[in-house]
Amino acid sequence: MANFNQNPPKFRDKAPEVRERRLETGIAFAGTCNDIRCAQRSGCINAANRSFSQTHGCQFTLSLGMLNSLRNAVVIMHGPIGCGACTIGSVGTSQTFRRLRDPLAEGVVWLNTNLDESDVIAGGEKKLRESILYADKEFRPETIIVPISCVPSLIGDDVDNILDNLQSETAAILIPIHCAGFKTKIMASAYDDVYHGILRGLVRPPVRKIDSNIIPDENYIFKKKYRDEHTVNILNVGSMSRPDELELERLLNAIGLYVRFLPCYSAAEDFRYMTESALNVSVCGTHDDFFIENVYNLFGIPYIIDVMPVGKKNTSRWLLKIAEHFGFEKDAQKFIDSEEREINEALDQFRPTLKGKRVYIAGGEVRILATAEVVQDLGMEVVGFKGHHYDKFSEPLFDNLENIDDVPYNAATQQPFEQINIVKKLNPDLYIGHTGTGNISVKQGVATFPLYGPANNYMGYSGVFEIARRINKALKNWQYCKKITEHCPLPYRKEYLEGDPFKYIKENG
Ligand code: SF4
Repeated sequence: MANFNQNPPKFRDKAPEVRERRLETGIAFAGTCNDIRCAQRSGCINAANRSFSQTHGCQFTLSLGMLNSLRNAVVIMHGPIGCGACTIGSVGTSQTFRRLRDPLAEGVVWLNTNLDESDVIAGGEKKLRESILYADKEFRPETIIVPISCVPSLIGDDVDNILDNLQSETAAILIPIHCAGFKTKIMASAYDDVYHGILRGLVRPPVRKIDSNIIPDENYIFKKKYRDEHTVNILNVGSMSRPDELELERLLNAIGLYVRFLPCYSAAEDFRYMTESALNVSVCGTHDDFFIENVYNLFGIPYIIDVMPVGKKNTSRWLLKIAEHFGFEKDAQKFIDSEEREINEALDQFRPTLKGKRVYIAGGEVRILATAEVVQDLGMEVVGFKGHHYDKFSEPLFDNLENIDDVPYNAATQQPFEQINIVKKLNPDLYIGHTGTGNISVKQGVATFPLYGPANNYMGYSGVFEIARRINKALKNWQYCKKITEHCPLPYRKEYLEGDPFKYIKENG
């Protein structure tokens, strides 16, 4: 039986370094794939300056994407009411996806300390204290998580101290997340902040009470040891659907391994039991490197960060790397061969429609390159990329792409004005990007396909089939995009659209 009274690991800093410094991540670059790879290798990618920039999310809001998924938790946003208002848009999906993992799971419970002008003068500590005590008494959660926005960070609320002092008065574990938006332009720093809080508050080995009056069950002990030694933690993050999880579980079960998914939709105890697994596997270095390396340093659990299992070759490589860790590569290779044969046959029906179609892909740096493998596999041509940012975690994905060196690559977090201009010039048949960014391309008359959808399967071999099936459908009938172009003009002047899309980028490699 687990107990939760052990001391958490100590971290010297309140928050990890932002990614501009930790990973030299860049968000303002225009060139080709070859240019950006060379710039990253020579340490010149670390640029974020535009003389004009459109809004994009902050690390506080991205943190909520992970935090709002945690089960048996209350999130108290410490800041003005506007910070975190985006939660309203994700409450429904969050509740549904929690229940896909645990039918009894409750929906998202969140509070906001609603800091106003007088709190900026007098401090927001009193409001925070009251909110924590209220949440603990009213909702009885296992954890109370406090993401800290810009205002309390600027006025100097000592949130860590408040939480330390209140810990003895609350049943819930109290966790601060230092994720003020102003500290970084690299939104993905949010993942490090959240994982830092999880490491401080939740990750520690479970204590198993052994009753000395009972004779140990050797059979149980043997089975548990075998299971632990063959259990893999898959770090699932926000852009992995439940169908994706089921597919990856199928693949790993097929080669004799057990699977645990976390951190998204996990409860506090899941972070205890994860320390008993044999291997941590990331599907995306952008999300997980901070966490997975710290878990290795603290608990000695080895890890794999390589490609994302989207696309046939990426999935096979991802699976084989895991199998190699356990010495299962021969059996895994046989399984991979049979899966690849099957998926190749299944894709044949789509190839005639898709062959030669030109595709622009925008989104997270790892996911866009992984998706490009599916696009090329189906005989389509990748004509351009836009990555939210760029750093070393893109590199392994290039191994499974062909003729990609001269393809344009724009590092930009959102910046829709650049996207509109470059998409107009490249004139693709299909835009693949996150929901919410495709609307502008639809108005340009381009068929769109979501890079990720929470109810759909993208990962593994079945994911390749699903992507092909849905792209095929999107390209067969794009009358909607054509019609909307006629009735919804874009708010950009002709002169701008004819000019250089990247003229506002001030530093470039
Ligand atoms: S940038 Fe700061 S003030 Fe704006 S939403 Fe993010 S945390 Fe709140």
